[in-house]
Amino acid sequence: RLPLVAICGRPNVGKSTLFNRLTGTRRSIVGDEPGITRDRIYGEVEWAGRNVRLVDTGGVVPDDEALIPSEIFRQAKVGLEEADAIIMVIDGRTEITSPDIELARLLQRGGKPLFLAVNKMDTAQLEAGAENFRTLGFKEVMPISAEHNSNIGDLLDAVWAAL
Ligand code: GDP
Ligand code: MG
Repeated sequence: RLPLVAICGRPNVGKSTLFNRLTGTRRSIVGDEPGITRDRIYGEVEWAGRNVRLVDTGGVVPDDEALIPSEIFRQAKVGLEEADAIIMVIDGRTEITSPDIELARLLQRGGKPLFLAVNKMDTAQLEAGAENFRTLGFKEVMPISAEHNSNIGDLLDAVWAAL
């Protein structure tokens, strides 16, 4: 069975953009495994010669801000249970919100390898600001731009090394 990496985060931070960037056309909903529902979407990515499964915990429908925080916590718990590593995505262009903090704590209690992807860092200037998010308590903090495909390889290198 391939290792599984969960993408968690509050709505609108770019989880689906990252998921689609990574899985490309191989994106799929795998319906024949126990416990899989349509509120999560599964795909597969090959990197550095290794295939890994990804789950977008935001699901198939566009994320609804109104669902926070209960829904993202429910999803994060599922991610924690089934994943071998977790990427928490945050919007690097906004302040840290209380759901971000709560989610970070929940994930940190889970004991799985954790990575903070500070997304929407579209320029080098913005990338430097990613360090501000270290206050969330993650050892691994990576600025990325899912939309512009920046630093995605570095993120995958770090995650793959933990699998
Ligand atoms: P989700 O709700 O976490 O799945 O977030 P989405 O992937 O749906 O993205 C939410 C919004 O953020 C969309 O308008 C995206 O186009 C935008 N977005 C995602 N990634 C980036 C990025 O790297 N840079 C910028 N500027 N916008 C992004
Ligand atoms: Mg989404």
